[in-house]
Amino acid sequence: MKYTIALTFLMFFGTVAAAQNDGNSAQQAKKPGADRAVSVQAMRLVGDATRTRLVVDLSREIKFGLLRLRDPYRLVVDLPNTQFDLEPETAPAAERGLVQDYRYGLVGPGRARIVLDLSGPVNVVQSFSLPRGDGQPARLVLDMAPGTAADFARASAQERRARVSLPGQKGDRLRRKRRNAVPVVVIDPGHGGIDTGATVSDKIIEKNLTLEFSRRLAEILTENGKMEAILTRTDDAFVSLSDRVRIARLNDAALFVSVHADIVPQSYVRGATVYTVSDEASDAVAARMAERENRSDILAGLSIEDQPDEVADILFDLARRETKNLSIRFARTLIGGIRPELTLNKSPWRRASFLVLKAPDVPSVLFELGYLSNNEDRELLSSQAWQEKTAQAVARAIEQFLVPGRTVNGG
Ligand SMILES: [Zn+2]
Repeated sequence: MKYTIALTFLMFFGTVAAAQNDGNSAQQAKKPGADRAVSVQAMRLVGDATRTRLVVDLSREIKFGLLRLRDPYRLVVDLPNTQFDLEPETAPAAERGLVQDYRYGLVGPGRARIVLDLSGPVNVVQSFSLPRGDGQPARLVLDMAPGTAADFARASAQERRARVSLPGQKGDRLRRKRRNAVPVVVIDPGHGGIDTGATVSDKIIEKNLTLEFSRRLAEILTENGKMEAILTRTDDAFVSLSDRVRIARLNDAALFVSVHADIVPQSYVRGATVYTVSDEASDAVAARMAERENRSDILAGLSIEDQPDEVADILFDLARRETKNLSIRFARTLIGGIRPELTLNKSPWRRASFLVLKAPDVPSVLFELGYLSNNEDRELLSSQAWQEKTAQAVARAIEQFLVPGRTVNGG
C-alpha cells in the first residue's frame, strides 16, 4: 500500500524529479519538531465604510505580509504557521465596512492566510503588530480606507514583484515526466485548507469528505499492484487548481479524478454525477458548479497572473482532442460501473468549463459523489458503508478503464 505524496513532490520540484514517500496514510498528525504554530484566538472587524479595522488576537507577535489583489478586489494577510482557534463568538460577522466577506486557513505547509473580500479598492492606512503585554494578547492591526483603483493597482503590482513565487507556481515549467511501470491515476480530493468547499455543519464539510473518500479509493486502487494512485493532497492542505493539474501532468497520469460533494441551489438535485470539461456547459447546474469550483484559487487569494500559461501552447491542441475523447469514454465507463450500486443523477454525465479538468494530455473527470444540498444524499454520504461501497465501485471502473483485458472481478 503505497502512494506518492504529491505535495512533498511539489515542494521540492525543481531539484528532484520525484519524491516518493512510503508513509502510511495517517499524515494528518503534526510532525514533532514542526514549527511551533502561532494561535489566532480572536478576530474583529470594526469601523465603517470610511475606515475599517481588522484586529487579530495572537498567542505571540509575528511577522506578516500583505498582498493586494484585483478581479475581485481582495486583501491577503500572509501568516506563518498559524492555527485558528476561533469559535463563532470570537470570529467577526462576515460583512463590515469595506470588507464584504473573509476567510482564513492554511494555504501550504507552514503558511496560512486571512483573505478579505473588499467592496472596492482600499488604501491600507497602516498595519502593524504588537507584542503581548499588560494582560493583552499579541495583536495584528490593519486599517483600511477607501482608495483609488489606480493606487490599488500600483501597490498590488509592487507587492507581487517583491514576492518570492510560491512553490509550484509560475516559473516551474514542466520539465520532465516520469516513466511509469504501471498506469498512474491521480485522485484529487476537492478543496482543502482555506477552501472548505460546501459546509453543512461542523461535521459535514466537503473538504473532509472528499479527503476521506479519496484516501480510501487510493488504497483500494493500489491493493493489487496493477495501478499506482497519487493523491493531490493527503491532509487538510490548500492546493491551487493549476497545481492539481500539474501533479497529474508531471506524473504522466493516465487518469485524473477530482472528487467532490457540493451544494447546488436546487435541493432536489441528487445522485452521483460525472462531469467532463467543455467550453459550453451542458446545463445550468453544470455551469453553476464549474463557476463555484473555479473560484477556489480566488478564495485562497491567488491571482490570475500566478497561473502558468503553458496551456496556451498550440501544440497541445491535438493531444487535447484525444484527451477529451478519453475523458468522455471514462465518464461512460464510470457511470456504467456505478449504476448498479448507486443512485445516479438523472443526467449523470454533465459538461462545463472546469479549470481543474483542463490538463491537455491527461483524461480528467470530476466525480460528484452526491449533493450535500439534498437530504437523502447528505445522509448517504455521511455513511461509512456507503462510502466503502462507492469507493469499491469507482475503483473497479478505473481498473476496467486503465487495465483493459482483465475481467472486472477477476484475480
Ligand atoms: Zn466541490
